[in-house]
Amino acid sequence: MKRRTLLASGGTALAGSMIAGGAAIRSIRRSPGRSVARAENALDRDRIVETLMEGTDRETAAYEVDGSEEGPTAVIIGGVHGNEINGYRVAADVTGWEIDAGRLIVIPFANVVAVERNTRGGPDGDLNRLFPGGREPESDLARAIWRVVEGADPDLVIDLHRSRGLFNTHHRWVGQAIFPTEGGGAIDDAASVIDHVNEHYVPWTMRFHRFTLGNVQDDDRDAGLLVQKVNLDLNVAGFLVESTDFLLDLDTQIRWTGAITELLLDRHGIRRTA
Ligand SMILES: [Zn+2]
Repeated sequence: MKRRTLLASGGTALAGSMIAGGAAIRSIRRSPGRSVARAENALDRDRIVETLMEGTDRETAAYEVDGSEEGPTAVIIGGVHGNEINGYRVAADVTGWEIDAGRLIVIPFANVVAVERNTRGGPDGDLNRLFPGGREPESDLARAIWRVVEGADPDLVIDLHRSRGLFNTHHRWVGQAIFPTEGGGAIDDAASVIDHVNEHYVPWTMRFHRFTLGNVQDDDRDAGLLVQKVNLDLNVAGFLVESTDFLLDLDTQIRWTGAITELLLDRHGIRRTA
């Protein structure tokens, strides 16, 4: 993996242009920002299976969506970075999906404090640097999230993000790319889904926004990325999905991120029916 491309994606220079989050996820009464409110409205609270970090300011929920037939298990995570709105909006939406087979475990607001503040990191810094391979995650929240991921015994894990620029175009940025793990056939899955999305979703007039295959997430024990821990510790299919907000409106980010999520699940035999 090229560290410069994946590890340097910090920065909040453009954050002021985003809609502010501004209020507690757990309390919709406190007039949350519009993006957070929309995500909260999409949640199916009857499907909560576990509350992580209960009673703390980091408290957040895991949801389960069950298909009628037996099948694989997928974990879907949004809001690891709190200002990546497309990720938590799509993950919240997924909690209301119906599927034909298998099981989804969804954590829509992984980093609630950061989502509330509409910032990349939370009080413990960048959550997606706290998941070293082969060792305990490095914060209480990261450990709670990892317990859910590992406990689900997943066949695939999808971590939804957004970058500022375009992978392979802008130095440092990683947008419009899917970074697969080495295990579980993830590279082929990612390549297939990228072809489909470029063919059916990205208009031909937007060639810079065509998705590309990112570096395989297989070789950095210390980077602390969730998807790398999935590769190193679980050796299953994992996908770091990066949209961009470079010349791309939020609704389109959400539509494409949602399509990628649905297509990755479909590759594993989990089909959305409603
Ligand atoms: Zn991110």
